[in-house]
Amino acid sequence: MDSLGAIAELINQNDDFLVAAHVSPDGDTLGSALALARALARLGKRAQAVCEDAVPHIYEFLPGAADMLRSENARPARVAVAVDCADAQRLGSALPLFRAAEKTINIDHHETNNAYADYNFVEKAGATGEHVLRLINLLGPEPDADMATCLYAAIMSDTGSFAYSSTTPDSLRAAAMLVERGADPARINRRIYRTIPFGKQKLLGATLTGLALHENGRIGLACLSAADIASCGALEEDTEGIIDHIRDVEGVEVAILIRESASGVFKVSLRSKHFADVGGIAASMGGGGHKRAAGYTVLGSMEEAASGALTLAREALRA
Ligand code: 5GP
Ligand code: MN
Repeated sequence: MDSLGAIAELINQNDDFLVAAHVSPDGDTLGSALALARALARLGKRAQAVCEDAVPHIYEFLPGAADMLRSENARPARVAVAVDCADAQRLGSALPLFRAAEKTINIDHHETNNAYADYNFVEKAGATGEHVLRLINLLGPEPDADMATCLYAAIMSDTGSFAYSSTTPDSLRAAAMLVERGADPARINRRIYRTIPFGKQKLLGATLTGLALHENGRIGLACLSAADIASCGALEEDTEGIIDHIRDVEGVEVAILIRESASGVFKVSLRSKHFADVGGIAASMGGGGHKRAAGYTVLGSMEEAASGALTLAREALRA
């Protein structure tokens, strides 16, 4: 493990950076990448923010989102930073760019992180955005309102609006500081959670209609084929957040949402309420995450993906 101080020193000695977010980007990876890229630019350095996927609609308001590059439009840089990526594969098509850098940095908060970079700062926290705020404070540029907006969105979204068990006093202190710096909690919350595309809301309805309970109601499972998503007029990115509604059902300990992300490719999202270690399940399937929120990708049919996930979830209930 390297210190944030050592990482700040490496950053100070260089001027060409690539900051990479993970595939199927969420608020934490995007907010962290955009804030760090902005801080580097403020220090007079070149910084490209990169992601395999386009910025999802709900995060388009984040300052700098319009400048986020798809992997094919980015160029290699001397130093590459991965934010919120538990393993190198999470970079998807940005991985070759990351590997092409002379020095690589990994800043993350996932317990399953496997320290894949030259410099690794991995510590449990509500969000990677908390670590990026600490790094920016070490680097020196006062976080401006745009950086504050990105980092507040990162922490708010990954802590379930400061409600998950991962929320710590540090998460709340960071949020308070970001509000002092110009982040607007009401606006950020409205943009991410209360400006829902019609198709996404219909998809929530369709998912809950198809929700099935197993193991006396302790496992909730819903499956979305590409056709299900399309028939609601929704996009794959619109599945974000739906699993929370499965976990919230009374008695459910493990929530499973499976979506078809390409023909024969299934993305399994997992959440647990009190005790089940879904990060362990995900890691055993080549994915990863946290004890209470994790995911993996599996090939085959929807039926196979569902029965495989159910078997693992039953084991997690017994452990
Ligand atoms: P989600 O279900 O929202 O996609 O992801 C939940 C959590 O698990 C997030 O912290 C996310 O980074 C992590 N996660 C999801 N899918 C994967 C995966 O395929 N590999 C790894 N390492 N982590 C994942
Ligand atoms: Mn995160």
